Amino acid sequence: MQTLLGNERLKSGLAAAFSSGKLSHCYLITGPVGSGRHTLAGILAAAMECTAGSRRPCGVCLACRKVRDRVHPDVITVDEPGKKTVSVETVRRARTDVYIRPNEGLRKVYFFPRAMDLNTAAQNALLKVIEEPPDYAAFLLLAEGAEQLLPTIRSRAVTLRLSPLSETVGLAELRRRFPDRPQAALVDAWTRAGGFLGQAETILTEASALAPETLRFADCFARRDRLGLTELLVPMERMKRDQLQPLLLEWAEVLHQAMLVRTGLPGAWETARQIGYSRTTAEALRARQSLCRAAELLNGNVSPGAVCGALQVWLDETN
Ligand SMILES: [Zn+2]
Repeated sequence: MQTLLGNERLKSGLAAAFSSGKLSHCYLITGPVGSGRHTLAGILAAAMECTAGSRRPCGVCLACRKVRDRVHPDVITVDEPGKKTVSVETVRRARTDVYIRPNEGLRKVYFFPRAMDLNTAAQNALLKVIEEPPDYAAFLLLAEGAEQLLPTIRSRAVTLRLSPLSETVGLAELRRRFPDRPQAALVDAWTRAGGFLGQAETILTEASALAPETLRFADCFARRDRLGLTELLVPMERMKRDQLQPLLLEWAEVLHQAMLVRTGLPGAWETARQIGYSRTTAEALRARQSLCRAAELLNGNVSPGAVCGALQVWLDETN
């Protein structure tokens, strides 16, 4: 079973509810991305399905393991991945399903990973079943803030608000997960993540997936740092064609993601979010076109030196 770090008060309140068996039928779990909302939802779902006599969730019974591996047939995710909102039809389908008794579990747990993306009609459809659910039904709603849900839903849910972790706890956990990284990188990721472990982890994971040049490019572009871009591009003039090409395409992809961020789509890289917050769509698009043009020239017979030179001029124009 995953453990939720920090959040001691919240955990001791829940431990009391777990041991007395007095679990609510509806929890609203709030906090920013990377604050542990999914971990907490997993713990709650397991506690609801766990077949151990005490100390639920035990983490070892078949029900707990199925919840952990996301294969429990009575823990049902209600979402429409890839869509901006969750439609009323999807909620209505879930509502119909609520009245079919559990397959094998003690309860039927409906998990809404993006409750904040339910529009008003969908929230009202959900409200009807939360008001008078069958006794075996439970609902776990995730949102960034409670205010994203209708007051009528909030009043029927127990709200669990996740807090940032202390620096000591957070840095120790990052050290455990990234044993090879220099301390400065961990501290930097921790600071940028505002105390939310999942965000810090994303920053660090991404940093190892993207080329260092890409991270520098994104940082300079986001801050309109012309000198920084020049300092980055000049040594790249000496790169080989097949070294330079993938970098330019990676930069173009970061800009593409930054444009998605500006349309409100979640889940993009932190690097892209930085650009999305500070540059306009038109600027990101123009820079992306320049990069694609540079990549094309390189594919033709233009030398890396000339391509990097041209790119400096073009990117300067967007600054
Ligand atoms: Zn168990």
